[in-house]
Amino acid sequence: MKSELAELDQKPTMLDDEAPDAVPVPHALVPHLGETAILLDIDGTLLDLMPTPREVWVPPGLSETLNRLTERTSGALAMVSGRSLNDIDLIFAPDVFRAVAGHGAEMRLSVGNEADDVHAPQMDKELKRRLAAIAKLSPGILLEDKGYSLALHYRLAPHAEKAIYESVSLIRADLPNAPIEVLPGKFVCEIKHSGFTKATGVRELMKHEPFKGRRPIFIGDDVTDETVFAIMPDMNGLAFSVGRRAIGVNGHFDEPKDVRAFLAHLLDDTRLE
Ligand SMILES: [Mg+2]
Repeated sequence: MKSELAELDQKPTMLDDEAPDAVPVPHALVPHLGETAILLDIDGTLLDLMPTPREVWVPPGLSETLNRLTERTSGALAMVSGRSLNDIDLIFAPDVFRAVAGHGAEMRLSVGNEADDVHAPQMDKELKRRLAAIAKLSPGILLEDKGYSLALHYRLAPHAEKAIYESVSLIRADLPNAPIEVLPGKFVCEIKHSGFTKATGVRELMKHEPFKGRRPIFIGDDVTDETVFAIMPDMNGLAFSVGRRAIGVNGHFDEPKDVRAFLAHLLDDTRLE
């Protein structure tokens, strides 16, 4: 944990009980887990980025940490991801977590009844067909159809980035009134309905039990996570970025493994009992 927390972290009393290589926990900032909601981006935050989105994996111990945090927060732990609910479930199987998925297009407020999951309407088919054709620009561009949005992954074809965004711009120029927006990610260009974002999803999530009235802690690394960093002060929440110091955050982590260590520390900290 760095930046604004540096002052706190430098106090010897804060570090005495920590191993030299431990990630400093912002004791002074993290509230009682019974009053906290833990909101986590997945790729590049909780899990290390891999050459393709399909290759991510959950390292040993993370499942237990997440399940124990879910228990200690009375269920107020949620994934906040651009991935679909279905995808999130496959990654963490057999665990099932509450989630804001698809950049706010999908939401799971309770675990155990799939029928309660909320899904945004499908993207217009003709528009989707036109966007899908962009994948033909180069081998290595992987098309992901989330139903309500379309993602073009180009980690295996980084040279195609400019051509992808130019092609998307041309299609958008053709359809100036289409309610769509382009989300640039790490080696991914996603085209989605402009009516929802991770922030609209988090705002909605926080209106419901068991999240309601709690102080949210959000950790994310993407450009799209900045919409959530921006609303954390409205909820008296805390925002942390990963890999870079984003605007409006309370601190940042270097890598996903530091985030995992931080989460494990929250469980170890008896002050938070
Ligand atoms: Mg991410």
